[in-house]
Amino acid sequence: MAEAVEMDDARKRYEFKKKLESLESMQGSGTELISLYIPPNKQIHDVTAQLRDEFGQCANIKSKQTRTNVQSAISSILSRLKYYKTPPPNGMAVFCGSHQLGGDRTDFSCTVVDPPEPLNISMYRCSSNFELEPLKQMLEEKSVYGLLVLDRREAYWGFLRGNRIDPVGGITSTVPGKQRKGGQSSVRFQRLREIAINDFYTKIGERASAIFMAEKDFFNRFKGVLIGGPSPTKEEFEAGNYLHHELQKRIIGLFDVAYTNESGLPELVDAAKDALKGMEVVKEKAFMDKFLKELVKDGGLAAYGEESIRKNLEIGAVDTLLLSGSLRKSRLKIKCQSCDYSEERTVSVEPGKDTRDIPLGSCPKCTAPLVLEEENDIIDELTKLADASSAKIEIISDDFEEGSILFSAFGGIAAILRYRTGF
Ligand code: ZN
Repeated sequence: MAEAVEMDDARKRYEFKKKLESLESMQGSGTELISLYIPPNKQIHDVTAQLRDEFGQCANIKSKQTRTNVQSAISSILSRLKYYKTPPPNGMAVFCGSHQLGGDRTDFSCTVVDPPEPLNISMYRCSSNFELEPLKQMLEEKSVYGLLVLDRREAYWGFLRGNRIDPVGGITSTVPGKQRKGGQSSVRFQRLREIAINDFYTKIGERASAIFMAEKDFFNRFKGVLIGGPSPTKEEFEAGNYLHHELQKRIIGLFDVAYTNESGLPELVDAAKDALKGMEVVKEKAFMDKFLKELVKDGGLAAYGEESIRKNLEIGAVDTLLLSGSLRKSRLKIKCQSCDYSEERTVSVEPGKDTRDIPLGSCPKCTAPLVLEEENDIIDELTKLADASSAKIEIISDDFEEGSILFSAFGGIAAILRYRTGF
């Protein structure tokens, strides 16, 4: 079940990314593309009032063509907003206008995007391209890490959310310095000092654990703890199991940092950069490692290439289907205009280019023109095939070396098989 949910997220992410790419490729000939962001708490009638106002101000636009285009875009948005009493739960973004198709042709499109996370801005912008930055930010990984810097005198903790550091708080200790005062016995002083250090570590462990584990959706989103400080303090702290056992097993690494107050947190994130990069793709990397291992084995269980994977899917031989998130292809169902001939074909899709412009050729049976009957995104189509034999599906990003190899060397389509086949 958990796997199905996760799959859904990867798919939604892929769909969303593809939609943004397509919008990004659109260019207006003038400043005539409208981007409108409506946060969930905004009143629709306030938005429509603003749009009517903008419509009126179009009179100031000098170019007649631009003026007409902006006005028809605004009208189109207004007519769409009629269907909404309130914005959807995450708000909405609308992109509308005439964009160039190449040659002298233009196409008018109006796209409503339902964002995967709540929008927190309200925006109306008219430009020669669409403003997509607020939505692109939602594509960034939303993992959360606990940050902890410490030495024997102070400690500070916080979170790393995506690329943002959230400092939370810290404590200082009353651990006595190394120099004992006159009159104390050395052994007794050392003993007291150790007790004080242990007490301080215990306090750090309890406080930091409480903060980290209170994080919303901890078991799904909290990816690990980074600990920074001088040696041997941080090593001592880790070895002493002072954090909650759920956090203790999520410690990603220990890193040298000079500061153990709030300034230590960015220093820690910087020192842990490589370790973090690896974490984001750790699950995808495990699948790619397995695939590459099977590939070099004699009689290994690896297959790749669209044709081979289709055959393996058909006979139910695929254990895990590996699809590159960079795949931009469509599967076309094509039929003859006059006889019963039909075929399927895979074509590359470039953002902003219309698949309907691809020449289909003529029927090999009767030479009548071939026509497009159905177009499906190749990831959708292969996913359905995989579902039919309960194969697992992994969408692999190209944010890491093995991931980009899947796309560049294996055409973005590969599989780990259940058993060896001839394909
Ligand atoms: Zn025909």
